[in-house]
Amino acid sequence: MADAVTNRISVVEGDITQQHVDAIVNAANTTLLGSGGVDGAIHRAAGPDLLEECRALGGCQTGEAKITKGYRLPARYVVHTVGPVWNGGRKGEDELLASCYRKSLELAESQEVKTIAFPAISTGAYGFPLARAILIAVKTVTEHLTRSPSITQAVFVCHNDRAFRMYLDALAEVAGEPANAPGKREREAGDADRDRGDAYAAIREQIDGQLKMIEAVHGIRIVNCDALADTLARAAGDRTQASRATAALNSWVVINNIRGEIEIPDDMIARILEQTTKK
Ligand code: ADP
Repeated sequence: MADAVTNRISVVEGDITQQHVDAIVNAANTTLLGSGGVDGAIHRAAGPDLLEECRALGGCQTGEAKITKGYRLPARYVVHTVGPVWNGGRKGEDELLASCYRKSLELAESQEVKTIAFPAISTGAYGFPLARAILIAVKTVTEHLTRSPSITQAVFVCHNDRAFRMYLDALAEVAGEPANAPGKREREAGDADRDRGDAYAAIREQIDGQLKMIEAVHGIRIVNCDALADTLARAAGDRTQASRATAALNSWVVINNIRGEIEIPDDMIARILEQTTKK
């Protein structure tokens, strides 16, 4: 079960306003009338009609969520949620932050949203410690997706490399992945072979899911998708390396503004493999 859910979650580096998903989540404030950070970026990209619709909503309480249309955004909807301001951690911040993710997902599902992108709520101006916020985000979304099948992809969008690694660590922790599973050396050689086969299948499934997500998010088609997934799955030693591989590919797609059908060139695959296996 945890494996199947992991395949419905991905992490990308980039700008949430550019995500081609059904809904993006906005880290708003209680007025819902726009501010800086990701909120400002979303209002700028969506255009003035978004503010107009927000005015009519009468604000939003911390830990709650409200939904509007996406206007000029590629996303059809914006889910506005208000994260807690960090106050030392004893004012219910963790629970309020978890509530933002839960309520956003519930509201999105009520509009038949299948794909949704989240920023790292509360980790900018609101000062929530990044690693703690990311772990809450990943745990809450994983728990929700485990219970509810309707969202097919939840994407965590991060603005910097540090956050990106924290998401991968949090995903590995939540999936219960031991960095180096102990006890293997005591098993029979046949068991080890079977384990290797199982590990390949799990990593391959993860990579297939993430490549599909990259195709959906950017509206592209990777012509050599199957061969690429196979090469990456053989090279990646674990889920973290597999995520690093698809993240490197995602960055390449963004930076090169890839559109339409694309065959990922061999020299790029070689570069991805270098990144993937780097310690
Ligand atoms: P909050 O007030 O909830 O802390 P902020 O907008 O200040 O919200 O920051 C939330 C997170 O969103 C931060 O980690 C910030 O780096 C990130 N962020 C800012 N702009 C964007 C963007 N365009 N796309 C994705 N993430 C963004």
